[in-house]
Amino acid sequence: MTAFVSISNLVRLFDVSKPWLNRVIERRPKAFLTAVSEVDFEIEERTTYALVGESGSGKSTIGRMIVGLLNPSGGQVLIEGVNLASETDPAKVDAVRSDIQMIFQDPYASLNPRWRVRDIIAEPVAARGGKTEGLAERLLEQVGLHPSDAGKFPHEFSGGQRQRICIARALASEPRLIVCDEPTSALDVSVQAQVLNLMSDLKDEFGLTYLLITHDLTVVRHMADRIGVLYLGRLVEEADPKSLFDDPKHPYTQMLLDAAPKMDGFGREVPPPQGEIPDPIAPPPGCAFHPRCSIATDICRQERPRMRDIRGARVACHLAE
Ligand code: SF4
Repeated sequence: MTAFVSISNLVRLFDVSKPWLNRVIERRPKAFLTAVSEVDFEIEERTTYALVGESGSGKSTIGRMIVGLLNPSGGQVLIEGVNLASETDPAKVDAVRSDIQMIFQDPYASLNPRWRVRDIIAEPVAARGGKTEGLAERLLEQVGLHPSDAGKFPHEFSGGQRQRICIARALASEPRLIVCDEPTSALDVSVQAQVLNLMSDLKDEFGLTYLLITHDLTVVRHMADRIGVLYLGRLVEEADPKSLFDDPKHPYTQMLLDAAPKMDGFGREVPPPQGEIPDPIAPPPGCAFHPRCSIATDICRQERPRMRDIRGARVACHLAE
């Protein structure tokens, strides 16, 4: 059986060179930033896959390649067997595109302030010539708002309510896959839980598949079916939540878990992750995590670790057992 989303050997480079004249004067070659490097994973239909990593780990770039906002520099993204970057049949591309929606981090910036909520929610359907009568009111109810809110403008809502409107808009075109890029990180902690619960309920109700992108491991613990941990554009560990939280195998996952707030740690100071992500234009040789890893040995500095299967997880570390 093929997975709903299948990512293989995915690579994305960004050209960050100085202008041509500067390069000629300074005799410098072109410079490329490797945002994503040889990433493989699959998402089964009606499941939630979480991509977790610090800022600059490449998680949002992967999300943008999946929805087709960016083309890969190498490898491929297949959605139900269709590669959006190379498919030549417009009908197939259109069918797959209509199955995907994205929810962005900032509910303040992603809603047009001049439009009424009714028009914002119905817009993806109206653009395809679909029926929009009563659609916004119905969806507002489904995301826990009042149908009469359809006549209001975005500035009349709080952050959590705006994110609910974004979710309603994403649902309007009846997608099967929703890519959620840090959907709760701009919200207060109390509102975060409400929005995550709503997303969970809607997943069951509409049979949705989620790709959840976040820097916060605690957000995904109860929601994800599978978690991929990214470091400097590479997947370093992939496992189900129980295995990842109870038995983390990669030193980077262990560091992220140590830095996460604990239920029994109220009032205690949590140590922040040690060190900084290295420069992605000139990543360290071997394992990119070795400058921050307390157990690194010579092989870590020389050889890039391959993904291995260890006790139900996939781990890219020479020393993980
Ligand atoms: Fe640490 Fe080496 Fe494993 Fe990288 S490969 S995480 S440096 S032990």
